[in-house]
Amino acid sequence: MLSLNDIRVRHLKKILKKVNRFQKTMANKSDLALQAQTSRFKQRLANGENLTDILPEAFATIREADRRILGKFPYDVQVLGGIVLHQGNIAEMKTGEGKTLTATMPVYLNALSGQGAMVVTTNSYLATRDAAELRHVYEWLGLTVGVGVLEDPDAKMKVAEKQAIYASDIIYTTNDGLGFDYLQDNLADRADKKFLREFNYAIIDEVDAVLLDAAQMPLIISGSPRVQSNLFNIADDFVATLTEDVDYELDEERKHVWLTKKGIREAKSFFNQKAFFTKANYLLVKHIQLALHAKSLYKINQDYVVDDGEIKLLDAKNGRILPSTKMQLGLHQAVEAKEHLKLTLQTRAMASITYQNLFRKFRKLAGMTGTGKHDEEEFIQTYNMSVVVIPTHQPIRRRDLRDKIYTTLPEKLYASMALVKACHEKQQPILLTTGSVELSEIYSQMLLKAGIAHNVLNAKNVAKEAEIIAEAGQLGAVTVATMMAGRGTDIKLGPGVAELGGLAVIGTERMTSKRIDLQLRGRSGRQGDPGFSQFFVSLEDDIVVERGLKRTRHYYKKHANDFDISKPKQLKRRRFRHVVDQAQLTEESQNREARLSTLEYDESGRIQREIVYQTRNDLLQDAQNFDDKIIAIADQAISHFLADNTNQSRQTLSRFILDHMNYNLKYSDPILQQMPIKTLKARMLEMVQVELDRKRHEVDSEEQLINFQRIALLKAIDTGWVDQVDHLQQLRATVMNRRFLQKNPIYEYQKEAVIAYDMMKQRIDLMVLKNMMLSTIELTDEGEIKVSFP
Ligand code: ADP
Ligand code: MG
Repeated sequence: MLSLNDIRVRHLKKILKKVNRFQKTMANKSDLALQAQTSRFKQRLANGENLTDILPEAFATIREADRRILGKFPYDVQVLGGIVLHQGNIAEMKTGEGKTLTATMPVYLNALSGQGAMVVTTNSYLATRDAAELRHVYEWLGLTVGVGVLEDPDAKMKVAEKQAIYASDIIYTTNDGLGFDYLQDNLADRADKKFLREFNYAIIDEVDAVLLDAAQMPLIISGSPRVQSNLFNIADDFVATLTEDVDYELDEERKHVWLTKKGIREAKSFFNQKAFFTKANYLLVKHIQLALHAKSLYKINQDYVVDDGEIKLLDAKNGRILPSTKMQLGLHQAVEAKEHLKLTLQTRAMASITYQNLFRKFRKLAGMTGTGKHDEEEFIQTYNMSVVVIPTHQPIRRRDLRDKIYTTLPEKLYASMALVKACHEKQQPILLTTGSVELSEIYSQMLLKAGIAHNVLNAKNVAKEAEIIAEAGQLGAVTVATMMAGRGTDIKLGPGVAELGGLAVIGTERMTSKRIDLQLRGRSGRQGDPGFSQFFVSLEDDIVVERGLKRTRHYYKKHANDFDISKPKQLKRRRFRHVVDQAQLTEESQNREARLSTLEYDESGRIQREIVYQTRNDLLQDAQNFDDKIIAIADQAISHFLADNTNQSRQTLSRFILDHMNYNLKYSDPILQQMPIKTLKARMLEMVQVELDRKRHEVDSEEQLINFQRIALLKAIDTGWVDQVDHLQQLRATVMNRRFLQKNPIYEYQKEAVIAYDMMKQRIDLMVLKNMMLSTIELTDEGEIKVSFP
């Protein structure tokens, strides 16, 4: 019976046929004639044809150009993948099938619209590498290419450079590069400092790594430091005295930790307090909570390393150091206190977005990966992208062997090393994959002892890593790598290796999702190469212990101590395999839920962000003066004040005017005389009008006035919004802790987020009034305005 995928592929093949029909025509064209195709297509689009109409001819054009310029003619299966990408879906194409080249076809086609086409990948090494190779073909066809990231992650680009890059027809960049640029672009205070165009079309390479694995870590631009608390160290001293399960309990799955009754008693006596959960103790309680988190949920060398006196976070997926990433909300400082390091200043979040919401801003989004089918449901649900499995160019010859399961870790290590030695003896290259930096170090030690030379991908430098992994298929090579290390770089077999059975992928534990297991297996057997993959598992592996041991606990307890390390006993019964698979499924669904909840949490923030950014953009674009707008906002602010204080005392009124409208208000000023509210309001608005007129006279031109007004408005919005972003971050943490009160945390969060938004709007109105009334304008010698805000 035909599967849904077969039906889809069959449909794609019909389009492929049309592409192939143009093959000869294109091959017969002179270089000049082929290059002229680009302007012909643009003309046809201008005349009303759409991209899908011209797909067959455009694909055939770039295909032929790929052959002439790059020396590679995209295979039929690559054309199929290219069509899927044009259609805004995910093409699952195995590692080594040539996804980089595949992308040239939909990128060329979509760039013809002139609205921009992006290829987004996971790191700047890959983005630079792919752009360097492919730009020749795009440019040959008359399109422009920009690279959104620099290879040196610390280097900065000027606005003009970014404008040039993002104005290109085709842009190669990374997910975080694009995300930070998006946030940055929306902090611009002048239209000419903006550099992004509207997001049109993007293909995400290694789409599962970007949209699933990285989805939990929102992008945050940090700003001015928060007032530092000195409670971190003392809270750490206290929790260091506590014992798990006695003084505090832990839910590792949900990442929750809390004091028991006994723990609370300890706290009272340690801090010499009669009551503990009081309002006055709010900060102390919060810091103890943070210290407990740091102590029990963050493990050195697994979640972070201490390097150069600093805490550096590790990417849980590949053990790589996450550059310039910090834990938010004081956790970073709590971990620093735990490690007895100097505390860094806590910064505030200024702007933030999740990858989900960043990429949903594209009019059309597509993705490619070797492993996507497994998570198709989530891709459809969150991004409205289906996953189409593209047949391989050559049949797959790799053998994926059944897991070998042992009771204890030592048995597993011994058994897996035995396989390593056996393969190595005959010089078969080995890729040994682990789930953590720690385990990869253990294997490295064992290999050293066995006298086997090897490379460890310790994931510090992606470019170097790519170099090493590219050599992993050579005769006798042994490479130890954490999960995703070197992803995106192809492992080609050295001479003589195919005869030995190709690359051996030896997995030393099952990963957090089947998709990642498959990703690892897929490092072997590219383009019809021989090879095999084999995973080793023990009942002591993290994933089994955390997710699945319950069902085998009894067995494990009974047998945990009766093993002979040099005779590892394999557990062959079905139920053990089942336990391992089940453990992985549980882990997967937990992660999926966490991603969906991130998305739900982010929803109110997203709506608010869109409104604020839209408001900013309108302000930046508007060329008219903002008199009416300012009067309207002032009206709001004043009305609000008057409504809140119906029985105005002379004092509150004079305070309000002094704070927001006039520093020089005199006690004898007639406005402070009792009068009906309506009259009072009119008089106050009159003050605003007078000040508006006064400022109009102070500047040389209407343009300067507009600039002043725009800055006054923007500044108020930005101040309000930055506070709001930070507030939402804090709110989320608070609400999560309230989970114990049995309320629906997401609902609570949404509710409070809306209230906070209304309050923000009121603060912004007040700030606009204040910026308008209390600022001073000077003219510089160059004839520009310089504004001092209150
Ligand atoms: P993937 O991203 O799918 O794992 P790559 O894009 O890295 O694969 O390509 C793997 C290798 O195959 C590269 O060396 C690439 O140049 C080569 N390749 C891809 N497509 C073709 C083709 N049509 N003809 C010749 N070589 C190709
Ligand atoms: Mg690739």
